[in-house]
Amino acid sequence: MSVDSEAIETPQDAERELFRAFVALVASRGSRKGAWELVKGAGITDQSLKAFYAHARKDGLEAVVTTLFTADKLEAIRALVANPPPLPPKRVAVSTLANQYYCEMQVHLGTLHDVRVTSAELSAGNEGHARLEAEAEPITEEEVTRRIEVGEKMGLVELGLAGEVEGVPLIGRADRVQLEGSKARLLLEWKFSGRRDLYPTHVVQVEAYGKLLRASGFETSELVHAVAVIPRGGPRPENMAETMAKRAADIASVAPWGERKIASQGEMPDPLAGLGVRRLDSSAFTLFVFPHHEQAAERDVSWALGYWKGARAPRRTTSPSRCRACPYNAAGLCDVALTAPDGRYKSREMITRDGDRVHLLVATQAPNAPPHRR
Ligand code: SF4
Repeated sequence: MSVDSEAIETPQDAERELFRAFVALVASRGSRKGAWELVKGAGITDQSLKAFYAHARKDGLEAVVTTLFTADKLEAIRALVANPPPLPPKRVAVSTLANQYYCEMQVHLGTLHDVRVTSAELSAGNEGHARLEAEAEPITEEEVTRRIEVGEKMGLVELGLAGEVEGVPLIGRADRVQLEGSKARLLLEWKFSGRRDLYPTHVVQVEAYGKLLRASGFETSELVHAVAVIPRGGPRPENMAETMAKRAADIASVAPWGERKIASQGEMPDPLAGLGVRRLDSSAFTLFVFPHHEQAAERDVSWALGYWKGARAPRRTTSPSRCRACPYNAAGLCDVALTAPDGRYKSREMITRDGDRVHLLVATQAPNAPPHRR
């Protein structure tokens, strides 16, 4: 029997590894101010920003980090390295915010790693979107402004939206918005999926668009949301986007909406609770229609923003089936996965010309595996 002495990790090795990870984490903040905010926030320094700056300018950031790496701070450093707060976002996409309701850890890992997924499902979704967009006529911004000012009704496709919510800049592109002058009447979102179901991610996405519409000056008190789930390989009648918008407006007008009570929730809200959804099924699509509720939107968006504001660590899903179908799990990047990946992805690591590490995940849908759904 022999012992491979190189394979045994000593406390010194572990400490060296921790030091390297700490240096990399501090450097990843991209600025001295970002580095100071990180270590100050974790209670690793009580230096003022001015003193931290002066030290870093004189000796370099690594020298500063070396002075902070003392025995009494090891525990705090370990906790920080294991659970770093997200980088302050430049801008958060509304779709990313919605995906936090699928698995926030996935979103968090997306901020740390470059993972690119290719699958027939994604390609079909992109193609379907392009077809529906192609039904619309181009229109100039001046013409849109004119029509809004005279109170005209119109449907806008791929409407870019941006605004700041709780200090976090949000951006998004709504699939279709029906306007009546400055009143936003209907927000229609297209989802290409084999499952005709409404998910929390769908609801949060349209809720966040509703908030951005309001922040952009549109009246949203009578806004109605419609999520159209379009099955892959189903019929694609002409003017489908127009038809879906009309049907959704019809369903919304059949009766007044009942009052919605926003129940007090545990830590993570349930966007589907008490939603009062009306549903219409046809061979080409299923529509889920429900009113915009500002208080519910506030609650759901605010919970997701808590992560971006650094108020809490990322939360992982509680659903093992999501972990089985997760590209980050397949790439070996998630330490908190609930179960092993099911093999639907082939993972390949690439280094780009700039030296960045990219994880390319190619979906090879395993037989009997449930679709990777939102
Ligand atoms: S493996 Fe599970 S917990 Fe980890 S990122 Fe994927 S879905 Fe989330």
